[in-house]
Amino acid sequence: MLFNYICPECGKVIPADTPVWRCECGSYLDLDYMPVLDRSRLPEEKSMWRYSQVLPLENINPALSFREGYTPLVPMEFWGVPVLGKLDYLMPSGSFKDRGAALMIHKCHEMGINEIVEDSSGNSACAVAAYCARAGIRANIYMPAGNSSAKSIQARAYGATIHLIGGSRTDCANAAIEGAKKSYYAAHAYNPFFLHGTKTVIYEIAEQMGWSVPDYYFTPVGSGSQLLGVYLGLKEMLNAGIIDKMPKLMAVQSNLCAPLKEFSEGRPLSTPVSQSIAEGIAIARPVRLKQIIEAVKETGGDFVIVDDTEIVEALRLSFAQGFYIEPTSAAAVAAVKQYAGKIRQNESVVVSLTGHGLKASAKIESLV
Ligand SMILES: *Cc1c(COP(=O)(O)O)cnc(C)c1O
Ligand SMILES: [Zn+2]
Repeated sequence: MLFNYICPECGKVIPADTPVWRCECGSYLDLDYMPVLDRSRLPEEKSMWRYSQVLPLENINPALSFREGYTPLVPMEFWGVPVLGKLDYLMPSGSFKDRGAALMIHKCHEMGINEIVEDSSGNSACAVAAYCARAGIRANIYMPAGNSSAKSIQARAYGATIHLIGGSRTDCANAAIEGAKKSYYAAHAYNPFFLHGTKTVIYEIAEQMGWSVPDYYFTPVGSGSQLLGVYLGLKEMLNAGIIDKMPKLMAVQSNLCAPLKEFSEGRPLSTPVSQSIAEGIAIARPVRLKQIIEAVKETGGDFVIVDDTEIVEALRLSFAQGFYIEPTSAAAVAAVKQYAGKIRQNESVVVSLTGHGLKASAKIESLV
């Protein structure tokens, strides 16, 4: 099967085994691909590869995977609201980004690429570095100086070369693009294969809920790779007749970096002056901004803004129930509080627990 990239801006079609990372017009690319899951043909395998039928790869090479995914969906309770926590912090490198990196790096390997560049605030660096280690691909990671050092240590441990870049997140992306002139820019914010990997989380949730989806889905959003993956999976399941409605996608951001809400209300995008404890969602200019806003609006969802005090409260409540997540993930929990009065008793809520707390122990130390 051959797949094509399609540019949502100018309509250009490019075969998906071309090593490009964006369109000539400057836009990100999407995949022209709408697979239909046949539930009667699901394998025994309880991992994200259970849904290989709907993944845009020619052949799946088990040597490149960790049999990752099918993470638990566990009842929790916050402010009297029963929720289901999706424990994606239990993925091999400690965050949901493994789902995206698994697909993206698999595709790089399939194309014969032996060196890549990625820019990351932390967890995508770890994910990409882990999969590159598995695939024998050299990884160059551009990271903003000042993020959790545990994440850069982890990425380096997998064998990645880390380039620490001062200045803004955009300076970091620009440095990566410069560095990519000699290899391939495997940019999780642009790469649509990444989204087809992250979409597996919603297939799992749907199956875990008896082939239905929740009424609300709360997730922290930076560049949108999880939210847009979830949206993609929902579109596919809707199209396949597996589900008949979408959950309200609740995109959670910090008050210190809230481009989604600003843009959706027609306000100019501000420049963050200080960083939230939720470092994983500090993306001032998400590449797929418009796409994220359209997805949230189409589902009747919302843009929820939380501050660091609310995040810390949510973090403590999560720890007290035994869930050691990182502050960025607790942003999604914090958003539930604002909605506690709106969620009706018969409505179901899933909160995506995106990243492992062990990577953020340096920040957590002062809270406990
Ligand atoms: C990256 C990340 C997010 C946000 O994901 P995006 O794809 O950037 O929207 C949320 N939580 C954690 C722990 C992350 O690492
Ligand atoms: Zn284009």
